[in-house]
Amino acid sequence: MSRTATSLTMSPASSRPAGKGQGARRRVRASPGPPPPDAPTPNILDEIRPLSRQQLSRAVRQAIARSCAPPPKRTVSEWADAKRMLSPEASSEPGRWSTERVAPAKGVMDAFSDPEVEKVSVMACTQVFKTESLNNVVANFIDQDPSPIMVLQPTLTMAEAWSKDRLVPMLRDTPALQGLVENKSKASENTILHKTFPGGHITMAGANSPASLASRPIRVVLCDEVDRYPPSAGKEGDPVSLVVERTETFWNRKIGLFSTPTVKGKSRIEASYNESDQRRFFVPCPHCGERHPLKWTQVKWEEGQPETAAYWCESCGCKWSEAERLRAIRCAMSFPDRGWRQTAEFSCCGGEKRTPSQWDDVGHSLCPGCGKRSRFDGHAGFHLNKLASPWTTIPKIVKKFLESKPFPDRLKTWVNTTLAETWEESGETVDATGLLSRREHYAADPVPAWVLLITAGADIQPDRFEVEILGHGLGEQTWSLDYVRHYGDPSTQAFWEALDDVLERRFKHPCGRELRIETACVDSGDNTQLVYDFCRPRFGRRIYAIKGRGGPHPIWPEQATVNKGKKIAIFLLGVDTAKSLIYKRLSIRGGPGCCHFPTRYSETYFEQLTAEKAITKHRNGFPYTVWEKSESARNEALDCRVYAMAARYSLTAIDLDRRAALLSAPPPLALPPADSDPPTPPPPPKPKPPPRQRYRSRGIRV
Ligand SMILES: [Zn+2]
Ligand SMILES: [Zn+2]
Repeated sequence: MSRTATSLTMSPASSRPAGKGQGARRRVRASPGPPPPDAPTPNILDEIRPLSRQQLSRAVRQAIARSCAPPPKRTVSEWADAKRMLSPEASSEPGRWSTERVAPAKGVMDAFSDPEVEKVSVMACTQVFKTESLNNVVANFIDQDPSPIMVLQPTLTMAEAWSKDRLVPMLRDTPALQGLVENKSKASENTILHKTFPGGHITMAGANSPASLASRPIRVVLCDEVDRYPPSAGKEGDPVSLVVERTETFWNRKIGLFSTPTVKGKSRIEASYNESDQRRFFVPCPHCGERHPLKWTQVKWEEGQPETAAYWCESCGCKWSEAERLRAIRCAMSFPDRGWRQTAEFSCCGGEKRTPSQWDDVGHSLCPGCGKRSRFDGHAGFHLNKLASPWTTIPKIVKKFLESKPFPDRLKTWVNTTLAETWEESGETVDATGLLSRREHYAADPVPAWVLLITAGADIQPDRFEVEILGHGLGEQTWSLDYVRHYGDPSTQAFWEALDDVLERRFKHPCGRELRIETACVDSGDNTQLVYDFCRPRFGRRIYAIKGRGGPHPIWPEQATVNKGKKIAIFLLGVDTAKSLIYKRLSIRGGPGCCHFPTRYSETYFEQLTAEKAITKHRNGFPYTVWEKSESARNEALDCRVYAMAARYSLTAIDLDRRAALLSAPPPLALPPADSDPPTPPPPPKPKPPPRQRYRSRGIRV
């Protein structure tokens, strides 16, 4: 069947190409009893008996064609509406899937049924439809169009989790899929990461594991959360290119890329969306009927009152109520274009670039000069932000925005996950002299009244140790309390006793109570064995041996790396992530996130703190950030800050609000005068340290 012969205007149900093996399987399941599936039906015989020889042969040919033709195939959304059941453990609304509840999903899912489309890029906010659309596409291919399928996740662990938490419940709870994938006991080739079904198989792979990507040819490749993939799968190169290579033998392959975007210039999904036809979800205004993609600039509210926030039409200037917004989103889906119109610039009539302003009824952009459709190369892109989500409200979105605004790192997350836009990194270097001029008069003992918690970070050098003692307050503000540099020989006991003395220091709080250093990180990159010997007996005091690792890792790891031979748990810190965060915070001049330094710190300290620079490098065409310092520069102050910050992230159970009440700390933003926004309490730190039992169970005494 030719791919170009079927136009977009044809009804979707009648324009699908046949899938091999599908007719036979459908009949078996539709009629479980006799007659046997391949026996000719009696009415065909009745039909051919009274005919001439020529008519007879034509009738036979037609009958054979009819019996071999598959039943009319549904689009993915039609299939999902008819057959998909949401599992209780994977969905907040278990039961029958309804595309109407997630209107924008219709166009995205149906792109996978469109014979003109080969590649689909979905750049979308979190928690609207990305995950379930991908699941429906998988289920649709297993049932209607069995093929070799691969689902690629950022890591092998996530691939296993997707298989267990999404795929298995879906196969269990969707009647159309029940029994298609044999369970492990019946078919030994079925594992968590590979399952077979009549006419095809599905493989789950991790972008971090080159071995899992090297498999047989694949027709349908679905790449989930591509912005979280490493630049290279081991040494093999870009994981997406690796899996796409496997599809090359299929003329009717389908490639899907799904992700929430991340940083501008480094986002895989944005790059892919920019190469596509850039579809956007056009929602009709309930007042004037004009259709627009919903934009953040059209959301307005009264200063400091997120509950007054609403969407305002850009054409007629009318305010939409929440009910009107929801109705408009549902209504968008009922247009023949399912709400989606191409917005990519195209050239036609003389070659100049044109921005689409006219569309046909299926959302294809039209040239205003000749009226013809713009050229489509088979790559459909979808962009959707949370303003078109039926699961949240405009006031909730605005409230989240106001809470995130003071913190660059949280605002970045908000932009990525709510607007589904990339975040543009601003200056990633900080000027040392600027910091010098911002030093403040405060003592370390007693600590400033805003300090509620103290951590420390230690860097061990061949001839000395350096330690920063860091106070933390509400709103993620920090006060550097002391910076100790002690010269000595790490092979002597005195050296480590001196370090222990520093880490045992107590600080008075103006309320009269005493604060101690609650947790500390000691770098084990140098003098590794000696650092292990120092930290092992002090694990109970939360003095941890750590090691920095580059790349996009969380500041505090999800779990420790246990060195069984040395009987120690080592924490691998995401130092690049920490440095990005610290440099963003250093540029805050007051208010939440601000870093405070005392006047006694010298110029050298600030030169060290700002010694590194974010440099974008490319590997296999993909950009990534590395932090570099010049040969001669020293950076111990920055390292100590990274370790002391990471130590803060290891503490998850501490409620700073409660502590503020206990220590009767003054309001968090009194120093220095902040901008107009009210303070927001910090969220609980993200990564959790592993439970202590974990080490006991591995035979390590703590
Ligand atoms: Zn309007
Ligand atoms: Zn033209």
